[in-house]
Amino acid sequence: MRRIRLITLASTIIGLLSFSCTTNAQKQKEQEKEPVRQVQKTKEEWKNQLTAMQYTVLREKGTERAFSSPLNANKQKGVYKCAACGTPLFSSQHKFESGTGWPSFYKPLHANNVEERADHELGMVRTEVLCKVCGGHLGHVFEDGPAPTGLRYCLNGVALNFEKK
Ligand SMILES: [Zn+2]
Repeated sequence: MRRIRLITLASTIIGLLSFSCTTNAQKQKEQEKEPVRQVQKTKEEWKNQLTAMQYTVLREKGTERAFSSPLNANKQKGVYKCAACGTPLFSSQHKFESGTGWPSFYKPLHANNVEERADHELGMVRTEVLCKVCGGHLGHVFEDGPAPTGLRYCLNGVALNFEKK
């Protein structure tokens, strides 16, 4: 009897140890997936700061109506910043006319400021583009863009603030 109890106890301890190892590994993985943002705000704080449309796009992954943003046809030289946190994200230098009705770029200004992740919404796999600093949704990136990258960053103008240079 005592031996059986010891074995049970030992296997329980081993079980607990391996369990805690797994959860730590899992936690680490989750942290890699959803990094801590440099700019973090509550739902209420974002709602107070952003317009209703900005909130829908940036925080709820909405999409503005095609051709609704004045930035779509904007040809001035300057920098496109995140409308939520002000991080410089795209440049007029890499903007092109895609004909889609959304501001389009063939590459980000600083790759480090932009995050790309798989998005399985709407029953298809697309690559979502987010502001890395605040996690705001910007749009999607497709592989049918012009040279030299062949990429098309299809963005919501409402998620961006243009700063003329
Ligand atoms: Zn941002």
